Amino acid sequence: MRVLGKDLLLFVTMAMPVGLLAQSPQVIKAPDERFKVDILVVVAHPDDEGGVTPYLAREIYDEHKRVGVVYGTRGGSGGNDYAREHGPALADVREMEAREACTKLGITKVWFLDGKDTASQNVMNSLANWGHGTNLEKLVGIFRLTRPEVVISWLPSVFIGENHGDHQAAGVLATEAFDVAGDPQEFPSQVAGATKRLEPYLENLTPWQAKKIYYFSDARDDQQFTGKGPSYSIKEISASQKKPYWRLALNAATPHLTQFPQEITQIEKLSDEQIEKMMSDPNTGWWTEPEALIFGKAAAQSTPTEDVFAGIKPGPLPTQMQAMKYEDTIFSQGNRLGIGGPWLYYARFRAKHGLSLLPVAREPEIAVKAGTVVVVPLQILHEDPAEPMNVTLSTAVPEGWKIVSGQGQFTLPAEASTAIQVEIETPVLSKEELKKMQAQEITVKGTTNSKPIGEVRLRVLLEASALPQ
Ligand SMILES: [Zn+2]
Repeated sequence: MRVLGKDLLLFVTMAMPVGLLAQSPQVIKAPDERFKVDILVVVAHPDDEGGVTPYLAREIYDEHKRVGVVYGTRGGSGGNDYAREHGPALADVREMEAREACTKLGITKVWFLDGKDTASQNVMNSLANWGHGTNLEKLVGIFRLTRPEVVISWLPSVFIGENHGDHQAAGVLATEAFDVAGDPQEFPSQVAGATKRLEPYLENLTPWQAKKIYYFSDARDDQQFTGKGPSYSIKEISASQKKPYWRLALNAATPHLTQFPQEITQIEKLSDEQIEKMMSDPNTGWWTEPEALIFGKAAAQSTPTEDVFAGIKPGPLPTQMQAMKYEDTIFSQGNRLGIGGPWLYYARFRAKHGLSLLPVAREPEIAVKAGTVVVVPLQILHEDPAEPMNVTLSTAVPEGWKIVSGQGQFTLPAEASTAIQVEIETPVLSKEELKKMQAQEITVKGTTNSKPIGEVRLRVLLEASALPQ
């Protein structure tokens, strides 16, 4: 068995089965389109969505936009002005009221973070009471699941008005999530794919850079925000619903009985004319005309006062590197195929944290138990993220090793970069054989439209026992 060891490399064969090119490409799964939204609203309390519902009604009913809402708390510490339930029971009630209110506008993508209501104007109290890090992580996961084009949240700033610390905290978290959700170095286990099909810890979410963030405010003087962003008439009649946008927003607010029981009960008894009069009166109306949004920032070409969707081309940005403050070294020198998984994570980690002197294996390497499946994780960078990409992978393995999956032609979904993996079954060997064993090499080559896009090598040492890869 002299061949086991270095000599075996001489017997490496290109494992390219006959007829491979004739097979139809294997399709790599895309993110779940059912959860994709155009607008993600991040607020603090159940009923806060009411601050922007006239605008949301316009976008949902007449622009066919998909909207999701995230609440920071479940509202359990507030008062109950409708019935006697309090505390955790009230939190359950208010969560259901909020879900029902959203459903009235056609919004079914609704999440609640684990924040606790905080009676304070100091955003620090709210961030501390909410569990800043845990809830940021959760919110970033929601960004990566819903992949919003636009984010709208409470203004993270101090003004005379209600000025609730929880409202500001929602704005802080939304801004932080906007900045980091596209960076795979942030909460990296969320974007890591399982190396084995049923691994339960990794989420395989999509790094996502939203394109714009806007805010709204409960400052007493809302005129001070004129010209700081786009504004929209709440009195305009919805073309599809034949009602003014404020009326659609009012209808969506009626489930919030534990908050506004008198107003809602009263409104239900009024005629349309009486409601109109009440809402037009600045002292009793719920919204001001026009409704003003405050421009935060954009990863798209547009000016602050332009329409919210101006300059936005739906879909992923050309490259996720836009969100990164560091060089993605793995794809340098024109390569579009690189090693993925933990190797890619650590390459980015070293770049991000300036650890250029940290020792690194000369080539990616790993030891696995003989007879188990070794996985070569790959990452493929797209030239055009708006289009699916066709890729052919061919893998060379040592003699006696068997490619289980990850070989042949693939259609990758339209995105900035795709993770894919090659699985190889290693041979069962005796203790004697393993003693003489040296690391052996797997080589994966990629092409797109017959043009090479890079090559990945992984050195694998087979051992009598090893932790699962
Ligand atoms: Zn609130």
